[in-house]
Amino acid sequence: MSDRPEMFEGVEEIWMDGEFVDFDDAQIHVLTHALHYGTGVFEGVRCYDTDQGTAIFRWEEHLDRLFNSAEVYDIDIPYTKAELDEATRELIDREGLDSGYIRPIAFYGYGPLGLNPKESPVQVALAVWPWGAYLGDEALEEGVDVAVSSWRKYSSSQIPTNAKTTGTYVNSVLASLEAKGNGYEEAIVLNKEGNVAEGPGENLFMVRDGEVYTTGLAESILDGITRRTVIELAAEMGYTVHDDATISRGELYTADELFFSGTAAEITPIRSVDDNEIGAGTKGPVTDEIQARFFEVVEDGQPDEWFTPV
Ligand code: PMP
Repeated sequence: MSDRPEMFEGVEEIWMDGEFVDFDDAQIHVLTHALHYGTGVFEGVRCYDTDQGTAIFRWEEHLDRLFNSAEVYDIDIPYTKAELDEATRELIDREGLDSGYIRPIAFYGYGPLGLNPKESPVQVALAVWPWGAYLGDEALEEGVDVAVSSWRKYSSSQIPTNAKTTGTYVNSVLASLEAKGNGYEEAIVLNKEGNVAEGPGENLFMVRDGEVYTTGLAESILDGITRRTVIELAAEMGYTVHDDATISRGELYTADELFFSGTAAEITPIRSVDDNEIGAGTKGPVTDEIQARFFEVVEDGQPDEWFTPV
């Protein structure tokens, strides 16, 4: 198909509802429940071309989060984690992918419309494709210019923020559209209380006086798996890590360093917020050290417990 988005060029198959199907045949009905009401849960995962061969990074944690997200919405995924694991590894193998992105999704499919989804079948799909740096290679080195969004993150008292649900990403889409429309590369969203939550698809870290801070889980954020990784790595490297910080907007402006963490964004430095230069306006030294350690880990494919060989 010639009008495919560039990122999917070369993708041959998708795993859908228990079978490998041709990319162009991975279709759903227009009256799918999840299309109308956002009743799907998903994951974003990376596999890396490590020294131990191609391996999925923190796959167990991603599968756990997928099943936990599903539980919140009463989505009974009709496959076990072991079945999804096997299908994913086979798909990566069939696609000949060395490194890239993995997108599992489970959703209420085509059934009667109406808010009660329980009469709709649960559908599951897995797709994989090559994907480089989410915000670009230059962003990893130089950092990104970000703006605090006028859109607030929804509160975990309204919609669980620890579940990765398709429908709720309209909040992230609004923040991204606004930031890009105003000439910034990414947004930071504040929570209902007006404190820093996270990026539209990333968690946020701050460095101040040589210590590392990240917004706590009660700040209406996603419990990011890269966030957990950074917390562990930074602590191992000897940094004092505050993993339940409340960060105000003003503290962003005066931070020594800021960076995003996420599966897609990996470790992306932030060089300015609302046109205020952060630190020296480029990747800071602590960010550089943590980022280097992160890329070393995914290159080495160590520690073993963080990697699932394909
Ligand atoms: N916050 C949001 C809103 C996200 O979409 C993501 C990406 N999944 C993250 C944080 C980072 O999470 P992870 O490190 O697990 O990719």
